[in-house]
Amino acid sequence: MSIVRGVFYCPWRYTDYNELADYLSDKYVNTVSLQRVGNGWNGHFYYPSEIAPHAFGDGYDALDDALRAFDRHGIDLRAHLVVGNDAYVAAQHPDWLAVRRDAVVARPAGAFREPGYHHLCCAQPAYQDRLVDIAREIVGRYPVAGIDLDYVRFPWTPEGDFCYCDHCRSAFQREHALDALTIERGTPEWEAWLGWRADQVTTLVRRIRQAMDEARSQGPRATLMLYIAPWWSETSERQEVAKIRERFGQDLVALAPYSDAYAPMLYHHYTQDPSFVTAQNVNWVGALTRWIAEAGKIPVWSTTQVFDISPLEARVAVEVAFNGGASGSLLFPYGSIGSTCGDETWLEIKKAYRRLAEVEARA
Ligand SMILES: [Zn+2]
Repeated sequence: MSIVRGVFYCPWRYTDYNELADYLSDKYVNTVSLQRVGNGWNGHFYYPSEIAPHAFGDGYDALDDALRAFDRHGIDLRAHLVVGNDAYVAAQHPDWLAVRRDAVVARPAGAFREPGYHHLCCAQPAYQDRLVDIAREIVGRYPVAGIDLDYVRFPWTPEGDFCYCDHCRSAFQREHALDALTIERGTPEWEAWLGWRADQVTTLVRRIRQAMDEARSQGPRATLMLYIAPWWSETSERQEVAKIRERFGQDLVALAPYSDAYAPMLYHHYTQDPSFVTAQNVNWVGALTRWIAEAGKIPVWSTTQVFDISPLEARVAVEVAFNGGASGSLLFPYGSIGSTCGDETWLEIKKAYRRLAEVEARA
């Protein structure tokens, strides 16, 4: 796998993908993670799915459109699949929403102040089936380079951990003869609970990996990348990897056999979004990249922010990620490219991406 010089892109109905591909090629971008859920988080897909509602009434297929344009420019297109955040499914199945220890539900005006954020419980068997079917549909139908799983975790807030929904409590009770609500932190029972939660995430990822392989048994193998959540990280120490598992149920060792890359969301200056606060020096990006690469022993595509910081700092974040052992870079603009990233930031990023391309061509 070559060095990923990527960007996260949220389409809109009238995106000119040829123009976008020209623009990104000029910046040495070789990978785009295309967010395919419409209107933010309402669960409407950008391609006509048999499983989920379609964002466009006219049958327009943004995924197909983007694939054709990017293919002409040699840019890999990856389909971004939102696992735990889907307002459409939440409205249909409110009992699938994750529940905090204090019984507060993972939805707006519940556990989250952020509008539109509904976090479903990824342990729910029927919800897992739906996600597996979606992955199979995308990989079987489109020549995407792979799938990027976002929100592939339990939610977490400083006010408490998840998930204590009826399904999680009764399934854990069946397997361990314990009520999760009575377990105290720091006990062997707590470790059993953390392990059980992490197993739910790992099981989902393993099932999705298997469905992708079944859907495309010939041709280039579709790769599977997971977005990793270091939210609320307060140090640059190795112990942050254990906190990711404890907070979000992402076990980087257990997930690795089913994953081709991890994309830790290393937004070091992320202070405006009340649901995921991180305020760190830019060097934190390199340190976390190092610990995550060591834990998973698979490629790490460090995902860094290109908003709310200077153009130079955006480039430095990319550079320190590679010093920390990254195999790739993804840029998160929080909105569309241009409106929140801007040409000046791209001038800086281009210097880093051009150098990565030059070094790789020489190898
Ligand atoms: Zn649950």
